[in-house]
Amino acid sequence: MRKKIVAGNWKMNKDCDEALLLFKEINSLLQNTTAKQVEVIVLPSFIFIRDFVSLSFKIAVGAQNCSTEDAGAYTGEVSAAMIRSAGASYVIVGHSERRSYFSETNSMLSKKINAALKNNLIPIYCVGETLNQRNSGNHFKIIEQQITEGLFHLNNEQFKKTVIAYEPVWAIGTGNTATTSQAQEMHAFIRKVVAQKYGNDMANSCSVLYGGSCNAQNAKELFACPDIDGGLIGGASLKAKDFVQIVQSF
Ligand code: PEP
Repeated sequence: MRKKIVAGNWKMNKDCDEALLLFKEINSLLQNTTAKQVEVIVLPSFIFIRDFVSLSFKIAVGAQNCSTEDAGAYTGEVSAAMIRSAGASYVIVGHSERRSYFSETNSMLSKKINAALKNNLIPIYCVGETLNQRNSGNHFKIIEQQITEGLFHLNNEQFKKTVIAYEPVWAIGTGNTATTSQAQEMHAFIRKVVAQKYGNDMANSCSVLYGGSCNAQNAKELFACPDIDGGLIGGASLKAKDFVQIVQSF
């Protein structure tokens, strides 16, 4: 059985009071639900991680990024070791906003994956094509390249700990969710690419999340697809009721 996951990427939203309020609301709504076996993760700004970990009832906490480096003179960076020491258990690596606004390359991201695993953080590795890449028929090639260059240096033990999120760039924050057939097709392709390198068992046990305008209305349909194991949620994770409804969409 693959792990089902719903992860809320809060991006650069909420001040201290707002963040605490939202986290407490999600926490208490989840306490009163009988959600099936779903790993719920909240990924806020770094500065909230420690507080959230200490307040959490059954929510795992993660970061949205980490440094490639262990420590040293890298002003403004946050290392995977620091994130782990704050109590987080996950980290997003390679979100499309990091790839495009901060020029993060597959090769740089492979180092972040190593830093995460070395510090016992589970990386959620994001892949996704732009609309141009899809329209020109290059989307499968792009996804394969992102996976190969970002993850395929890992050995079996390391790969086993990694989560993949398919997030078509054209669907993020746009309201243009991928159709279930577009999402399912790419998730099945990702599993095929993984199988070629690590074998069928690994491909079948790896959690692959969908992200891109997933919300309380469309989550059920997306999560019903055979190769979709949950979602990485942006906008809708900032509303407690919507987020919890997504968690209950399996
Ligand atoms: C994201 O940024 O990871 C994301 C999926 O955003 P949204 O749900 O807002 O499209």
